[in-house]
Amino acid sequence: MSEQVRVRFAPSPTGPFHIGGARSALFNWLIARKQGGKMVLRVEDTDLERSTKESEENIKEALRWLGLTWDEGVDVGGPYAPYRQTERLDIYKQYTESLLANGQAYPCYCTEDELEAERQALLAEGKMPCYQGRCRNLAEADKAKFAAEGRKPTIRFRVPENQQIVFKDLVRDTVSFDSNGIGDFVIVKSDGIPVYNYAVVIDDSSMKITHVIRAEEHLSNTPRQILLYQALGLEVPYFGHISLILGQDRTKMSKRHGATSVEQYRKLGYLPEALVNFLALLGWAPNSEQEIFSLEELVENFSMDRVAKNPAVFDIDKLNWINAHYLKRLTPQQVTELALPHLQAAGYIDESVTEDEKEKLAQFMALIQEHLSYAAQAVDHVDVYFHDQVEFENEEAEAVLRDADIPQVMNSFKQKLAGLEELNAAAVQAVLKSITKELKLGGKKVYMPVRVAITGKMHGPDLGQFITIIGKERTLKRLDSTLAKIV
Ligand code: GLU
Repeated sequence: MSEQVRVRFAPSPTGPFHIGGARSALFNWLIARKQGGKMVLRVEDTDLERSTKESEENIKEALRWLGLTWDEGVDVGGPYAPYRQTERLDIYKQYTESLLANGQAYPCYCTEDELEAERQALLAEGKMPCYQGRCRNLAEADKAKFAAEGRKPTIRFRVPENQQIVFKDLVRDTVSFDSNGIGDFVIVKSDGIPVYNYAVVIDDSSMKITHVIRAEEHLSNTPRQILLYQALGLEVPYFGHISLILGQDRTKMSKRHGATSVEQYRKLGYLPEALVNFLALLGWAPNSEQEIFSLEELVENFSMDRVAKNPAVFDIDKLNWINAHYLKRLTPQQVTELALPHLQAAGYIDESVTEDEKEKLAQFMALIQEHLSYAAQAVDHVDVYFHDQVEFENEEAEAVLRDADIPQVMNSFKQKLAGLEELNAAAVQAVLKSITKELKLGGKKVYMPVRVAITGKMHGPDLGQFITIIGKERTLKRLDSTLAKIV
């Protein structure tokens, strides 16, 4: 095995980039960075029907956004190019020819219908369906006959009988499988395209991959792959299978549990640093209480021996907590940029927003920023900023304005606010305080009605700052129109 650690991320570009895929990419990337090794990005697009260029672009874009760069692979090239499987068909062909020549693989002429009938018959007998080897030892004459009928063969790998396939998984320790349950499997489809289990072996070997770190769902593919390595006389890499990601109800994470793709989280205004931090903790346990990790700190601390065997539970509250942490460190202008598409979609602000409007909005964002878990949540906080027509959040809020002292409090506040030479948070606070003194009222009897009259709500952002942001004119307008509603 070569000295240098070489890992790869090998996505199939067949749909949205799942957070599980991002986690596999992250673990590989961390190993490469930690060991001073190389990270390869290979695109496994042999499923011609489901693979799309769009999905490949989406995956690469998401990886770049997360900061998970690759040293070799699609787009960047490298010594083992090409890195897209459909561009490597000639390479696979050479291996197939040698397997066919020495009898380790053979053409199978069975039709879909025949295979299905065999499957059903086995199921009916209560047996595990696996190919029974009908074409294993076909005479040349039979092959010629099938070919003459126009049947296009698949190529099957001749699985050796009675063999224990044992390997030491970096996460699961010793894993063993019996070759007898496997059945001769297809390695090349009738259209000449290799299947995943075959192409992956040739690629991992020719790209000199030392460690194959991937999702647990591939564990059952590994014995097939090991048999192929052996048949081809290739060195077997280390394997590490990372556990499944479960939803809070402990079933496999799926759309039912909410957002599952990196793109969805990105769109909701989650930050790449937060997602990476969260994904690292999905299965890996640091050896301290620390929960916030930068990419650099992860590189320093990560190791496969602290990757857990048991499934990781996707805890959205934890992700929100981590994201809120990173969000607090952004400037209000940055949060505003992240929230803008959501505010536009919600109709609060239109596409032609000016820099001035953004700057004003950023001032308000500074007041709510610490209450946000992710930027899209700004939508739930901004009505008080945009709407001058105040709506009471409930009857209790409305009742605040029915108090006997209200006319006096409001008149005094309007006058004093209008008379302020310079509007700022401290000046507004001073006005409110002076009213409590003059009218001999407790703070709550002054602050609360003013807040409700301006926002319709009993709680919210700092009143002095809020009034300073919306300005005298809008504040006074709000006070008048809200009070007019109280009969
Ligand atoms: N293309 C496979 C997938 O996306 C990769 C599996 C592997 O890493 O070997 O699931």
